[in-house]
Amino acid sequence: MAEQTCMVCGKSFGEDKEMKWMHDGQWLAFDDLGCRNKFIGSPQKYLESA
Ligand SMILES: [Zn+2]
Repeated sequence: MAEQTCMVCGKSFGEDKEMKWMHDGQWLAFDDLGCRNKFIGSPQKYLESA
């Protein structure tokens, strides 16, 4: 199973743990709700540093 990296906190996590969010036509995955909410609050901040 593929490991992914959370773009908010930098932790890696498995597909079974992911929290998905549709942003600008593409699905992004986060390791938990807190990180997803941080991204939703300021998506540009995280997209620019990625
Ligand atoms: Zn995270």
